[in-house]
Amino acid sequence: MANYITQTEFDKVIHQEAYSNKNVNNKKYNEIDEKVDSEIVFEFGGPWGVTAIMLGFPTLMYYMWGCLYFYRGQLVSPFNVEFWQLVAEGAAPTWYSTKIYVSFCLFELFLAFNMPGPIVKGAPVPCLKGKQLDYLCNGVTSWYATLILSYIVHKLGWFRLPDLIDQFGHLMTAAIISGFTITIVIYMHTILQGNQHRMSGNFFYDLFMGAVLHPRIGKVDLKMFAEIRIPWVLLFYISVSAAIKEYELFGYLSPSMGFMILAHFLYVNACMKGEECIPTTWDMIYEKFGFMLIFWNFAGVPFTYCYSTLYLHFASIDNGAPLQHSLPWTIFCYTLLLTGYYIWDTANSQKNRFRMSVNGSHIPRNTFPQLPWGTLKNPTYIRTKHGNLLLTGGWWGIARKAHYTADLMMAFAWGFITGFETAITYFYPVFFVIVLIHRVRRDLERCSKKYGKDWEEYCRRVPYIFIPGLI
Ligand code: NDP
Repeated sequence: MANYITQTEFDKVIHQEAYSNKNVNNKKYNEIDEKVDSEIVFEFGGPWGVTAIMLGFPTLMYYMWGCLYFYRGQLVSPFNVEFWQLVAEGAAPTWYSTKIYVSFCLFELFLAFNMPGPIVKGAPVPCLKGKQLDYLCNGVTSWYATLILSYIVHKLGWFRLPDLIDQFGHLMTAAIISGFTITIVIYMHTILQGNQHRMSGNFFYDLFMGAVLHPRIGKVDLKMFAEIRIPWVLLFYISVSAAIKEYELFGYLSPSMGFMILAHFLYVNACMKGEECIPTTWDMIYEKFGFMLIFWNFAGVPFTYCYSTLYLHFASIDNGAPLQHSLPWTIFCYTLLLTGYYIWDTANSQKNRFRMSVNGSHIPRNTFPQLPWGTLKNPTYIRTKHGNLLLTGGWWGIARKAHYTADLMMAFAWGFITGFETAITYFYPVFFVIVLIHRVRRDLERCSKKYGKDWEEYCRRVPYIFIPGLI
């Protein structure tokens, strides 16, 4: 709270500073942005690689859920026919699960249209000649409305939250089918409208990366909606569902299940309370709305990041009591989670608020919680020839991706709270390491092209990527 400053103190100065610099060579900057933004780069192994991901990832989701559900986390042979028969039965699509999933998505969409929230300007869009789009940030009000309504419907018995964990397999199928359907509908609609951007010409690659850059229905930006309103909220409710079930079965909430509630609450709450920072992030500026983002957010995140919760739930049923760890181990897990969260939250907000100040779109908000050092008072930075300013203060002067390290600390804590009986609860941290390393490589290449010698200077001043002195 103490470091949360107002626009008059810093934003106007930094905004003028950046724009007085930009005005010198405005045209040149747009050309660099447009070049980087329109360049086609084959990622993820190109067309073959992305086709394998589109087929392989859903299969992997079924495999891991099947191992957890039917074999309590033991990795069975993927060629075991009986295993796949069990999975087919346990995850068959049902009307009930489809109704739950679709109603939830439509309800969140309804809130996105109707709840109050500030409108912030996004980063200048290169393919729109630097135009800044408006983003309605009603994530916090929608999140609180969801919490209140879910409490009411559960209490009144209209919908029992533990049904989510009981219906998990069927719900996952509803999400997977929705992920594919939305991908195809958005792709076809974009092509019919002639609204495609940065197309490679290969159907499978374009379906994976997406065709449209800024998908919108009226005032709602679908990409921003999909990034936070579905995946993290659903993930949180899967943990809530398991926790209620634990309470109903054993009469108390274990520290391990309490940990998962806290972990998922912190993540979803951070996304909502800092939503106004999202329009200037890489996904919003650069990534298109294809299978990668759509499937990942509608099905991948909620139904794979929850393995620790599922394991704790199944273990408690098997053992007749919730999984208990020693006090030191439990304290270690909580400490790792909260330390990671603090660094992650403040590092993201330092950079995003700095960027928003530069764009003239920073709006101080009092969403809960505002952490100390979340906004830098007089940050150091590099003025690039491109026009953008690169932050060298705060966490961004300590390591170039300290927020990724912090995110990984949280991810490993999610695994550690389940102990070491199964490898599946380490799927998320291990997968996340791979995702982030790949993301770092893509991002550093892109920044190097965009900022040239200034990026080299930034790397000289901040030589470490993840952990100072190590890597
Ligand atoms: P970053 O927040 O690192 O954004 C990278 C962009 O920030 C760069 O392309 C550049 O954009 C700009 N930038 C880089 N360095 C600086 C600097 N020193 N000063 C100012 N701007 C800079 O990455 P992400 O968008 O990937 O991640 C955001 C958060 O989301 C992270 O905390 C990450 O852990 C999390 N995340 C979580 C995932 C999950 O599944 N749980 C998946 C992916 C991300 P520009 O071109 O504008 O200069």
